[in-house]
Amino acid sequence: MLRIYQNNNPEDDKVLRTISKEVEIETIISEDIQSKIKNMFDFIEIQPDGAALSAPQVGINLRFFIVSKNIFKSLMKKEIPREDMVFINPKIIKNSKKTQLLEEGCFSVRWYYGDVERFKNVTIEAYNAKGEKKTWNTGSYLSQIFQHEIDHLDGILFIDKAVNIHKMSDEEILEIKNLQKKLIENKNK
Ligand SMILES: [Zn+2]
Repeated sequence: MLRIYQNNNPEDDKVLRTISKEVEIETIISEDIQSKIKNMFDFIEIQPDGAALSAPQVGINLRFFIVSKNIFKSLMKKEIPREDMVFINPKIIKNSKKTQLLEEGCFSVRWYYGDVERFKNVTIEAYNAKGEKKTWNTGSYLSQIFQHEIDHLDGILFIDKAVNIHKMSDEEILEIKNLQKKLIENKNK
């Protein structure tokens, strides 16, 4: 099981606050990078409340993140191949002028939420897990996810930008933990 780096741990925070390096394109298909990606997917699949995970959050200062399969399924209304749920060396190449204030949380600032101003639409360019360059244009929840995750690659956490930061109630946290237990049980079946 992966350990998720936490912002309240000074050693972890150093990694979270580092500007990550670009992945060398020819190393994308290497065993090393592919196993890191696989471990991150294994983690995200048992999280009831998480949409995405970036490499620095698991202690790797490289520029990539993954998005959970469930999010894609609900947003795109179709199955997306797993290699396309990996975003390597992502760059925002276009954004709308229009912004919106959206609620956000983060595995590395566990149980806290806050409202962050994000561009409504973004277009990003990124390599997928096969090393193919893809362009994504989105104005949905995915746009918010892309901006949150790219911030991670630049050492930025949502709490740096958020207003109305608050902690979830004990009941809400317990509910998520119980859901997670069920997901783990189902996975091990
Ligand atoms: Zn995060």
